[in-house]
Amino acid sequence: MRDKHIEVGFTQEVYDLLKTNPVLLQEVAMQLLEDNFPLSVHQDILDEVGLDFEAIPQLSPQKRTKRDPSFRRLILEAYDYRCAICNFSVRMENTPIALEAAHIKWFQAGSPDIESNGLALCSLHHKLLDRGALAISNEQKIVISEKVNGHGGFQNWVLNFDGKPLLKPRNTLYSPKTEFTNWHIREVFQGRYGVSK
Ligand SMILES: [Zn+2]
Repeated sequence: MRDKHIEVGFTQEVYDLLKTNPVLLQEVAMQLLEDNFPLSVHQDILDEVGLDFEAIPQLSPQKRTKRDPSFRRLILEAYDYRCAICNFSVRMENTPIALEAAHIKWFQAGSPDIESNGLALCSLHHKLLDRGALAISNEQKIVISEKVNGHGGFQNWVLNFDGKPLLKPRNTLYSPKTEFTNWHIREVFQGRYGVSK
């Protein structure tokens, strides 16, 4: 919508109502986030638009049941419980810690809960994927946006993966499909894409 200069908003009446009713504002904001964005970016969006409250998930019971509870297990197993980008794996006894099943094409965009639309990622790389700081190329390589910068572990944990191949899943059928990686590049990735690395 941004590309086509389409603007959306609330009518003055609704805007005034939201302004004077913080509880309603929070409900409406959380509903919009849940319908359109993955959980990992909710707090970032609230902070960026200047809404001063915590992103507490309020999924309705019908919405919860629509999600496939086995997706996480499917994806983590497909990548042998490691981050597909950095190979990270930490367990507390048998429970993996800070390892997540990421959707490449967001669940909120009507994507399927299948292996070829998922990646096992550590919490850091999941967040970077969902924020569009990195993308997956058609050659299954990691692309880091030229817009990201930082210090500390930035070189080791982010920049060094630029152009590196993703970890291969157990079965080649589970590799990310280009229909999903292309959606992510088009809708989420915050960098230039097209130069093959
Ligand atoms: Zn990682």
